[in-house]
Amino acid sequence: MAHDYDSTNIFARILRGEIPNKTVMETDHTLAFHDIKPAAPVHVLVIPKGPYVTFDHFAAAASAEEITDFHRTAAAVCALVGVAPGEGYRAITNAGAHGMQEVPHYHLHILGGRVLGRLIERA
Ligand code: AMP
Repeated sequence: MAHDYDSTNIFARILRGEIPNKTVMETDHTLAFHDIKPAAPVHVLVIPKGPYVTFDHFAAAASAEEITDFHRTAAAVCALVGVAPGEGYRAITNAGAHGMQEVPHYHLHILGGRVLGRLIERA
């Protein structure tokens, strides 16, 4: 998969401060904010500030500092919103056409606050 980053995507615009977001947590390398259309009582998106399109792009190309910061922030978000320790949560990321990714800037969904059902429907 090519990883051409489209800097007009909505999360790039959020990072540039062009549109507002409901920030949960922010560090030098990472931003976490509430999903605008929550699919569960807890629905937070964690994004790197760097221009990465998908999980695999980020995991392959980001610096160790970015990768560590991203995951430490995601863990802190889980604690802050009360899902861990707690009743649990699901962390998912969509990539590309088959993953039905809507926004081409890597983001981790953290979902919780209710029983979430099975991971995916069987085809
Ligand atoms: P995905 O389908 O994995 O690319 O998920 C994109 C997510 O971004 C969806 O859950 C949307 O509700 C969410 N989203 C789109 N625009 C915004 C926005 N301006 N602020 C917060 N979340 C957004």
